[in-house]
Amino acid sequence: MRKILVTGTLGQDGSNMCEYLLRDTGNKVYGMIRRSANPNFVNCKSFIDNPNFQLVYGDLTDEVSIDKLVKEIQPDYFINFAANSFVGCSWDMPLHVLDTNAGGVIRCLEAVKKYQPNCRFYSAGSSEQFGDVDYSPQDMKHPMKPRSPYGASKCTAHHMVKVYRESYNMYAVHGILFNHEGTKRGEEFVTRKISKGVARIHKSMNYSGGIPFKPIELGNLDSKRDWSDSQDFVKGVWLMLNQKEPKDYLLASGETHSIREFVELAFKAVEMNGYWHGVGEEEKYLYKNPLGREDDLVVINPEFYRPAEVELLWGDPTQAKEEIGWIPEISFDNLVMRMVSYDVNNA
Ligand code: GDP
Repeated sequence: MRKILVTGTLGQDGSNMCEYLLRDTGNKVYGMIRRSANPNFVNCKSFIDNPNFQLVYGDLTDEVSIDKLVKEIQPDYFINFAANSFVGCSWDMPLHVLDTNAGGVIRCLEAVKKYQPNCRFYSAGSSEQFGDVDYSPQDMKHPMKPRSPYGASKCTAHHMVKVYRESYNMYAVHGILFNHEGTKRGEEFVTRKISKGVARIHKSMNYSGGIPFKPIELGNLDSKRDWSDSQDFVKGVWLMLNQKEPKDYLLASGETHSIREFVELAFKAVEMNGYWHGVGEEEKYLYKNPLGREDDLVVINPEFYRPAEVELLWGDPTQAKEEIGWIPEISFDNLVMRMVSYDVNNA
């Protein structure tokens, strides 16, 4: 039975990874969580009682805890999805972001090197590492030009994985994951904020005659992202960990869409076709409701603008498809539909 240590268990990717690994009964999965007074297990419902799953405590900022886990469990694989993962907040706490996302990866690599050198290690990288992009779509040759403390922290982790791999002959890889979403995505990310907002507005509209509702407040509508489903990505991560030789790959959909397009598609999923009106901070997404009234569905709130913006991310996943056989199954349209219908049904 393979022993797999996964961090970030309560989050979107960690919980999807555990779920995926536990489907194959040949795995014993140890899910690391941080000690907290009120942990939220909502993302872990499907596997928390699985006899092959065990919760363990640890923290990426505490090397004692990471050493102890690796020494005691002796994992065959160590998959690190724990991170300070929200770009928008990374300007407010740059040192914590660097310590968790880069220092944390060094602590994991050190623990593996010392106590279980044959363990295969995965570090979660991000398209934010490309930042101020030179060309599109981005591939693994694209230079690292981060625009946020978050992006810079992931670049550091990337370099350290390469250094440990080459210095100590470890199977350590760092996957560059473009944006990936789903029904477990946190509401601080724009996709979930929109899908939840659409569900809330749809519910208000469906009361007889409709009741007043607040529009969704967004920042930059023109930035473009390459969005996929996290469930497709965890399969790609597992493939990266099971090659003959360790090598870094990039996972992406190969398409790019603006925030504006996400908004349009999300409202379309509940049959509300709106239209944009106005410019700059005055721009709005409007909807003529069946009673002829005009409602604001989306307005701009400059609070959500960032100190520095990554305007365009668009990945080229050809190498991962051809070399490790990664086959994503959920399209962009399907992703938006799934998120909105989940939130409508659970509003
Ligand atoms: P990121 O690509 O990892 O930063 O993912 P996010 O979902 O946080 O942001 C994606 C893009 O949406 C960025 O370009 C943001 O500036 C833009 N955006 C526009 N309005 C919002 C908002 O209200 N919240 C967030 N999180 N992003 C927004």
